[in-house]
Amino acid sequence: MSIQVNKAKCVSCGQCCDVCPGNLIQKDKNDKAYIKYPQECWGCIACVKECSVGAIKYHLGIDIGGKGGYLYTKNRGDYMDWFIVSLDRRKHQITINKKESNKY
Ligand code: SF4
Ligand code: SF4
Repeated sequence: MSIQVNKAKCVSCGQCCDVCPGNLIQKDKNDKAYIKYPQECWGCIACVKECSVGAIKYHLGIDIGGKGGYLYTKNRGDYMDWFIVSLDRRKHQITINKKESNKY
């Protein structure tokens, strides 16, 4: 259970480093985020939700996403799109209105 940062997409905002409750994410010498302690990640997904450019993948367990499945998010103002991608590249999308998230 862990995340992976796509450094090509990372815009070095540092938000993921700030929100990780375990301080597991750091910046490399090029100011790009990476997870320094992947084995300590407990999958809270705070960093995934915070990344505005969708640069962080969260690897799903085989019982959720199938082998090789992962999820990532994209923020669109009041809405957040959640994408679940399976090994065969099928993509499922769930859109949440953040202002009404308690209704779901
Ligand atoms: S939140 Fe996303 S863009 Fe910002 S530092 Fe982390 S990975 Fe990079
Ligand atoms: S999923 Fe949670 S614990 Fe894991 S790196 Fe992201 S913020 Fe930290």
